[in-house]
Amino acid sequence: MSDLILFWHRRDLRIADNTGLTKGRELSRQVVGLFCLDPYILEGNDIAPVRVTYMMGCLQALQAEYQKARSQLLILQGNPVKVIPQLAIALNAKAVFWNWDVEPYAQKRDRIVAESLQAQGIQILAQNWDQLLHSPDEIFTGTKQPYTVYSPFWKNWSGKPKANPVEKLENIVGLTDAQQKITTENGAIALPTAKNLGFIWDGELIIEPGETAAREQLENFCNTSINEYQEQRNFPNIEGTSKLSAALKFGVIGIRTVWQATLKALENSRSDETQASIRTYQQELAWREFYQHVMYHYPELAEGAYRDTFKNFPWENNTEHFQAWCEGRTGYPIVDAAMRQLNQTGWMHNRCRMIVASFLTKDLIINPQWGELYFMQNLIDGDLSANNGGWQWSASSGMDPKPLRIFNPASQAKKFDSEAEYIRQWVTELRSLDTQYLVTGKISPLERHATGYPEPIVDHNQQQKRFKQIYKQQKET
Ligand SMILES: Cc1cc2nc3c(=O)[nH]c(=O)nc-3n(C[C@H](O)[C@H](O)[C@H](O)COP(=O)(O)OP(=O)(O)OC[C@H]3O[C@@H](n4cnc5c(N)ncnc54)[C@H](O)[C@@H]3O)c2cc1C
Repeated sequence: MSDLILFWHRRDLRIADNTGLTKGRELSRQVVGLFCLDPYILEGNDIAPVRVTYMMGCLQALQAEYQKARSQLLILQGNPVKVIPQLAIALNAKAVFWNWDVEPYAQKRDRIVAESLQAQGIQILAQNWDQLLHSPDEIFTGTKQPYTVYSPFWKNWSGKPKANPVEKLENIVGLTDAQQKITTENGAIALPTAKNLGFIWDGELIIEPGETAAREQLENFCNTSINEYQEQRNFPNIEGTSKLSAALKFGVIGIRTVWQATLKALENSRSDETQASIRTYQQELAWREFYQHVMYHYPELAEGAYRDTFKNFPWENNTEHFQAWCEGRTGYPIVDAAMRQLNQTGWMHNRCRMIVASFLTKDLIINPQWGELYFMQNLIDGDLSANNGGWQWSASSGMDPKPLRIFNPASQAKKFDSEAEYIRQWVTELRSLDTQYLVTGKISPLERHATGYPEPIVDHNQQQKRFKQIYKQQKET
């Protein structure tokens, strides 16, 4: 048996603050990275070209980090259950390490890979909840049940001490020439581009890939906007949030590093307002963990509604309405602005995610799973747990105790885009109209005709009543 440790990267595309990687280094100096392009994932119908483009950029940056450290990041393409054990056996590896994941597919896949490696006498270590500050088996209610409500989860979670970042991978050696040859004979390939894989994203990437860029993004945010986060995070025309979601999804930055940066910001803060802002940001990081914990404990969430009332809900599922929603042509300016931001950039502001999700489910009465899938097909940060959590929250089908939440598009626009700057940025044909018309959506038929902007596809007030009626009936049955 050689001294070689293969480290299988998945949602941890970095060499700094990576718990599994550090443990691998403790066992041996010869540490080599591995990433597997899994056709099951890449050929799925929930893939966004923008997300693959970002991920491939992150892999390129990770490969450069390994080269700097005098080692390699190997790329495999195929079913991980087959190709990973095959390579590890051919290289006579001492161990294969990886970090755990909460998603149902990942859990099943990892179990099979582990069994197959262990059957060949190859050690595995996969007990690191690297992408979480607390493992899902650590945060329970007094009766040892997983939390299903965020507030008590936050209370418990925030009171627990958090780990510091772990050391960056250093002082390692890579493969020998003979081992390199074995890797090519056993399927290792050059890193393809997203285009090579058939994913075309012609737009710019609004987030620079790679761990250096993610660290800079974090530093900038913690030196500036975090201090006003509580107020500014709600306004879609302001760059008031961290834009770290894609980096956190792919683990391009360590969650311990992010948490530590928030603690430093707290230390440096000089007022109650800035402290409250930083705590609000920490609460968002806790939402991320909450949704991952619930996905781990209740994998059925990935399949549909959590609440019984919504399990056989008579969604109307009008396909023309759905198409108009996807394309940003509903006739509701704030909704259309948000959908166009998503389509053109691969990202959407959180406030707008809530507005469009409420509109799809409560105004158009369309199954939230349609919206959830469309988001996955288009978001740079698309992530099963966070996306499912967001959609179940907006549809009122999830764990949130509030029974029914319906957003009025006009009130939302009035409150959060009062000067219609965001609307004008994305619904360009309406740019010259007065603010009041854009915010209220009360645009005359003449203006609609002149600009080519559509009539509202539904009436909000009517639909709100209709939804409540259906909901009431459904609850009674
Ligand atoms: C319908 C809907 C779908 C969503 N889909 C996704 C998704 O696919 N992927 C995703 O990462 N987030 C999703 N969110 C949550 C949230 O909108 C994004 O995380 C956020 O807008 C990303 O921007 P940011 O990094 O600037 O966030 P910030 O405001 O800077 O927040 C910091 C980090 O906290 C986490 N976070 C913030 N809010 C939430 C939340 N409500 N739920 C879970 N984590 C959160 C993210 O990792 C984010 O990067 C969704 C929300 C809704 C309402």
